[in-house]
Amino acid sequence: MKGVYVLVISVDEDVEVDVGALGSISFEKGLYAYVGSAQNSLEKRIEWHLGRVKRKFWHIDYLLDNEVVRVVKVFYKEADKTEECRIAEKLSENGVAVEGFGCSDCGCVSHLFRVDDYGFLRSFMFEM
Ligand SMILES: [Zn+2]
Repeated sequence: MKGVYVLVISVDEDVEVDVGALGSISFEKGLYAYVGSAQNSLEKRIEWHLGRVKRKFWHIDYLLDNEVVRVVKVFYKEADKTEECRIAEKLSENGVAVEGFGCSDCGCVSHLFRVDDYGFLRSFMFEM
């Protein structure tokens, strides 16, 4: 399946994370939502994010590698890559952008957002 996914991430305490080329970013304790896409195997990509320790390839790998950070929920949808940025737009309406995160190859402000709640994702995505 090719598609887009949203990782709902819990940051269990305030933490400073070195995000590769982005530099050091402070994350407040709380919930975050990250949107990404996989045009080959969505299942494999999600498995990658849920696994621990590996070479760090995407910005999100640096965040998820931190010991106070964990994925609490995964949403997905069969779609092409353009849907990824549409979902980023929706997340921006419901959260606060972590600027420049995960969007090196598009025009979005971010693909990672601090959110209070992730229930709104259920209206346009499937829960895993
Ligand atoms: Zn984008």
